[in-house]
Amino acid sequence: MYGGCQDPSCVDMGRLQNKALEVLFESGYHLGGRKWAFPADPANYREGRRTRDDIDQIVIHTAEGYTGGLTTFQDPGRGASAHYAVEWDGTQVQMVADEDVAWHAGGNIGTNDRSIGIEHAGFAYAMQPNTETEWSRPMLRSSAKLVARLARKYGVPLDRQHIIAHAEVPGQSHTDPGPYWPWARYMTQIRWYYYRPYVLGAAGALGIGWYLLRRRQKRQV
Ligand SMILES: [Zn+2]
Repeated sequence: MYGGCQDPSCVDMGRLQNKALEVLFESGYHLGGRKWAFPADPANYREGRRTRDDIDQIVIHTAEGYTGGLTTFQDPGRGASAHYAVEWDGTQVQMVADEDVAWHAGGNIGTNDRSIGIEHAGFAYAMQPNTETEWSRPMLRSSAKLVARLARKYGVPLDRQHIIAHAEVPGQSHTDPGPYWPWARYMTQIRWYYYRPYVLGAAGALGIGWYLLRRRQKRQV
């Protein structure tokens, strides 16, 4: 834990909601919709050619700040980066390409090599439930959608051994995303977005089947 904001009263909500967007509008690349790119400085990650076979974990972080690390990852002396940030309003930002190795999990334990790291706006200990600063629902939904897309693309299993907290990476000292991250709801949302295309496809097929059956029945009358 760092950043020193451990209580809801120390969070400036206006800044939390707007600061990253100001930075994006000024210096980011709009990819369409609520997706942006804001490339990290190449000194902050290792170029790689990772494919589906190399990636099997997604690591959840909180930025302990307002901008999801956007500007700090531009600083070539930072020595850290993450692939994505999801902002308080649900805006998604890509900072490092999936195939490259971002330095987000710490240490030399191999987690960086096999994972994709996602930062979230907010503070691990200040986003307490039933306060005005509790984890943003649009951010959680957007993040779940992003994780579902990545899990499908890279074959990451939808369980807590493969979708993990930074705190759960062996041998490091970070505690994010902290005790208030709503893991049960978040994992349910990830599964919903993951299976939704199949559910909708099956529902569509059932609907067509029902329609054809009805037509046949009518003709027989
Ligand atoms: Zn972290």
